[in-house]
Amino acid sequence: GSVSMAAAPMLTKLQQDCATPLPVLRNVAASMSDDIRAGLAVDGGSDLKMILSYVDSLPTGDEKGLFYALDLGGTNFRVLRVELGGKDKRVIAIESDQVSIPQELMSATSEELFDFIASALANFAHKDGNFPGKKGEIGFTFSFPVKQTSIDSGILIKWTKGFAVSGTAGKDVVACLNEAMDRKGIDMRVSALVNDTVATLAGARYWDDDVMVAVILGTGTNACYVERMDCIPKFQGEFSPSGRTIVNLEWGAFSKGLPLTVFDRDMDAASINPGEQIFEKTISGMYLGEIARRALLHMAEEGSLFGKSMPEKLSMPFVLGTPDLSTMQQDGTEDLHTVGSVLYNVAGVESNLSSRKIVLEVCDTVVKRAARLAGAGIVGILQKIEKDTKDAIFGKRTVVAMDGGLYERYPQYRRYLKEAVAELLGPETSQNIVIEHSKDGSGIGAALLAATNSKYG
Ligand code: ADP
Repeated sequence: GSVSMAAAPMLTKLQQDCATPLPVLRNVAASMSDDIRAGLAVDGGSDLKMILSYVDSLPTGDEKGLFYALDLGGTNFRVLRVELGGKDKRVIAIESDQVSIPQELMSATSEELFDFIASALANFAHKDGNFPGKKGEIGFTFSFPVKQTSIDSGILIKWTKGFAVSGTAGKDVVACLNEAMDRKGIDMRVSALVNDTVATLAGARYWDDDVMVAVILGTGTNACYVERMDCIPKFQGEFSPSGRTIVNLEWGAFSKGLPLTVFDRDMDAASINPGEQIFEKTISGMYLGEIARRALLHMAEEGSLFGKSMPEKLSMPFVLGTPDLSTMQQDGTEDLHTVGSVLYNVAGVESNLSSRKIVLEVCDTVVKRAARLAGAGIVGILQKIEKDTKDAIFGKRTVVAMDGGLYERYPQYRRYLKEAVAELLGPETSQNIVIEHSKDGSGIGAALLAATNSKYG
């Protein structure tokens, strides 16, 4: 209809600016490989921190006994207990619980926060009288910036995500938790401190020996992979028997060769960390809805996308969520009924069929770019492994373990990501590369790392 005529050229412009043809993807993959190498050479060598995880023995399936995982990464923390029965029995029993952290504890003292966590852990461990005779061993997934110094120690650099706890920064968070358990008389110890991406890789590896890479695509994004110690110039320690270790890219900070639009630049400028986390702002769940909102607002204001009605709600940052984009893209009705109701409910927008079609195109454009760039990032990691180590992963089955709400719940995102990987690798190699959803592997992964790094045998 005539309503959206003025918006049509704006859509074309958006599609051009977001285009990710094969040469763009190739360049992103190559830059990712280069940044990985530079970050492995020396700290600060590239946008990628390439953090050594100190995880140098991966689960084999032989692990036996009762182990715990504690996952602290936001306003909830999760506790998990798993009973492992070795190669044949694998996971005999698994139980988990979620505890929300009271608001006042988020700005309390370090002792108060860790005492609360220790008590919750003790309650969970003693439930059902299932407490082990020996010390309980914990894999601690801690999703805040830490400077790790060994598998069971790490200094908190700073709290993020709304935490303002005093007295933890600069301290070893493992010691903080162990001391709290001492104060409470709890016979448990942290054996492994891990990042959630690393825990996901370990969890997936337990079931499948071919897992080499793990990627999280949720609110934020990150990736890690198994690297040979002799390919890490900045690594100072002694080589482990495996000669391999997991390296955490912190790939959200990547920034090279990305096709960006005015909407990306404006969103970045208005963010709490301008100029940082550019890859994350282009591909992860926190931002895709917001990029689409900015494009739609522009089309409404300058191109009368929704006629004369000026939807005020659409000018509120972050009103449109990535789940809304996904909901709209699943609409199979002829009049795009679902698109219409999402627009009305979320943004207060009245729409007709032709404007709904344009809205869908905007969603698809933003999501397609995101997923294809994520795919190029994965290929960058794989090409780095293939080239620098004699592991020859392209000639045999190699698994990339995926997790996170965005990947799990956005079918178009998954499809575009896989398509881009296949385009980049070519038909033969891409048959060997398996991109696999590893659901909630991080909890069990952390418990497994407590087992492989057991202090008590
Ligand atoms: P987090 O990354 O916050 O630890 P998740 O891995 O569960 O937790 O990811 C949650 C994110 O996934 C949300 O912030 C949102 O961006 C995205 N997401 C959740 N549901 C959907 C959905 N239905 N469609 C698309 N994206 C979704």
